[in-house]
Amino acid sequence: MPTIFTRIINGEIPCHKIAENDQFLAFLDINPVAEGHTLVIPKKEVDYLFNLDDETYTGLMLFAKRIAKALPAAVPCLRVGVTVIGLEVPHTHVHLVPLNSMQDINFSKPKLNPGQEALITVAEKIRKVLV
Ligand code: AMP
Repeated sequence: MPTIFTRIINGEIPCHKIAENDQFLAFLDINPVAEGHTLVIPKKEVDYLFNLDDETYTGLMLFAKRIAKALPAAVPCLRVGVTVIGLEVPHTHVHLVPLNSMQDINFSKPKLNPGQEALITVAEKIRKVLV
């Protein structure tokens, strides 16, 4: 059965898209730990980051870097934190989280539930500053 992220890639489930090319997709986390929390995924469905082939692994990180460099212009922060967990969705994803404090990247605290309007607004802001 395809993962929920493959279903997003295939357009069966909507997402707040940030960027896409033929191999990778970036979209907002629906239950962010901080405003602007973005997920970056390979379109190739591989559960575990370190099981990606080298080309996909490096491509994913370079794609994530482009998003991370743009994020602070859209969501003011001290820096962008990077985490890979994968305990919930078995499809490799890099979490990019705009950070102002350590608490902003604490995945143990209750997640935010910003609602569609707020997600639409922040996605637009990030897309605008992407070069
Ligand atoms: P983990 O697998 O533990 O790294 O976490 C999976 C992340 O995916 C969580 O932060 C979820 O909020 C996020 N997530 C799950 N389903 C969706 C979805 N349909 N759209 C956006 N983010 C999602």
